[in-house]
Amino acid sequence: MSSFTEVLVVGEHERGTLVDATLEALTFARSLSDEIAVLVCGDFDLADRLAQFGATTVHIADHELLNGDFGPEAWGETLAQLIQTEEPEMVLACGTSRGNEVMAQAAARLDLPFVANCIELSEAGTEITRVQWGGSLLEQTALTADIKMISVSHHAVEPTEADAGQPEQRSFKPDLAEDLARTVVQGREIAEAGVSLATAAVVVGGGRGVGSPEAFAPLEELASLLGGRVGCSRAVTNNGWRPHSDQVGQTGTRIAPEIYIATGISGAIQHWVGASAAKQILAINTDPDANMVVKADYAVIGDLHEVVPAIVDEIRSRQAD
Ligand SMILES: Cc1cc2nc3c(=O)[nH]c(=O)nc-3n(C[C@H](O)[C@H](O)[C@H](O)COP(=O)(O)OP(=O)(O)OC[C@H]3O[C@@H](n4cnc5c(N)ncnc54)[C@H](O)[C@@H]3O)c2cc1C
Repeated sequence: MSSFTEVLVVGEHERGTLVDATLEALTFARSLSDEIAVLVCGDFDLADRLAQFGATTVHIADHELLNGDFGPEAWGETLAQLIQTEEPEMVLACGTSRGNEVMAQAAARLDLPFVANCIELSEAGTEITRVQWGGSLLEQTALTADIKMISVSHHAVEPTEADAGQPEQRSFKPDLAEDLARTVVQGREIAEAGVSLATAAVVVGGGRGVGSPEAFAPLEELASLLGGRVGCSRAVTNNGWRPHSDQVGQTGTRIAPEIYIATGISGAIQHWVGASAAKQILAINTDPDANMVVKADYAVIGDLHEVVPAIVDEIRSRQAD
């Protein structure tokens, strides 16, 4: 289906490193148009990677306010100016916090409506299904603006490649006032080294059933054997067993691993919305009727204090073979 002449995509990047969320937006954009233009804020060379995912034109916005760290006001104003010049029918970002912030900035400056976190559009882009409340509610929205500004729900689309050949690269000089640098990243602290919870391919989650901070050791061991990360429920963070940075859910991190091994977690809706993007779920729980067990792809009904060490032993013995 190509319903739109051209779709303009916000190329989200972190100081010149493209973030995977942009690839989700590009994949979604390809279902709407054959002509995909991408805005890159800052003089960064991302054209080859963008073309691998279908970009046919790359607008490189060059300005000193854009060549360093992310700034929502400067990015939003740049997007607004490009929209005014190009007048695309559809403007799209991935619904990350940055993507939504930039779109909201641009929409407010142009007095256009913006529909965030969409998962499905009608052919004309006027009927939209979007997720609300962290994915626990689907909302039908009507959008009537001539220039449609939407973000696609993060993790709703699996990025796939579609080489568009050499994209046309256009330099664009936005007119940005100094006071647009109002929100500036002043420093970065690496909270922990290694794989992040949000991007880990394997997450081993522990809930109240784990019972104590020390009892997370076998979960840590399992996660490390599988190259993954430990996550937890809010019952765990409330008890002070793990830091909030490990919490999965509505008020924690949204995860999207290849497999989520959820142990001693009941699967309350606030936890589920953070875990539901996992491709496969293995629940380990003593209660066969726990929500997590009912929704999981695989379940082991049993005591996690026996099941997790048994899995660890099995992996170790296979590694030794
Ligand atoms: C506004 C709001 C926001 C929230 N945000 C979040 C959030 O972001 N993330 C989140 O997780 N929660 C969140 N919650 C809390 C959520 O509602 C639940 O209370 C919480 O997820 C429960 O955690 P749990 O599954 O670890 O504990 P429980 O619900 O107590 O479940 C424990 C599970 O462990 C099993 N179990 C016990 N012993 C064993 C054993 N030995 N072996 C195997 N299984 C065992 C039990 O059968 C049970 O299923 C939020 C709540 C509110 C109101």
